[in-house]
Amino acid sequence: MHIKGLDETLVWLGGIAAPVAETASYVHWLNARNADTDQGNSYCRDCCDTQVKKLNAKHPKLEYFRDGGWPTDADHPEFCCECGATLDCSLTTHGVEYELDQYEKERLTLRGKHAPYFAYNAYQILEGSYNVNDSTDLAKRCRRFARRLTAAYRRRHGNKATA
Ligand SMILES: [Zn+2]
Repeated sequence: MHIKGLDETLVWLGGIAAPVAETASYVHWLNARNADTDQGNSYCRDCCDTQVKKLNAKHPKLEYFRDGGWPTDADHPEFCCECGATLDCSLTTHGVEYELDQYEKERLTLRGKHAPYFAYNAYQILEGSYNVNDSTDLAKRCRRFARRLTAAYRRRHGNKATA
């Protein structure tokens, strides 16, 4: 069912992404019992709590509360609109295509401070492609992306084997 040959890539990619994955909060948003809220903003848990407190201090009758906090799908990677933290969400097929469009124009690097963030994003892409039919063009693009990631991994580790 899923794209062949991605499992191994996901294992080492998950290792590099771990510092981000372990601290990433699920997507939260503002809600209120007595008002329509703009739920378009995504927050980490802490920033959402802070916003709820602020809003309830100003408008106690509206009874704001923190909503979300469970696994969600998104058409793009999600970040907290307050602190910029990477949020934990799965990418839809549309999201996978969009992200591949971006990375196909870029040189991939798994070096430096940004590596865990990039690895997390790359992991989301490959994980999001798991339900893609293996014979599709998108599956081919994902496999090509995985090969480029492996090459970047080898550059990071001086051409050692990937296992
Ligand atoms: Zn935040």
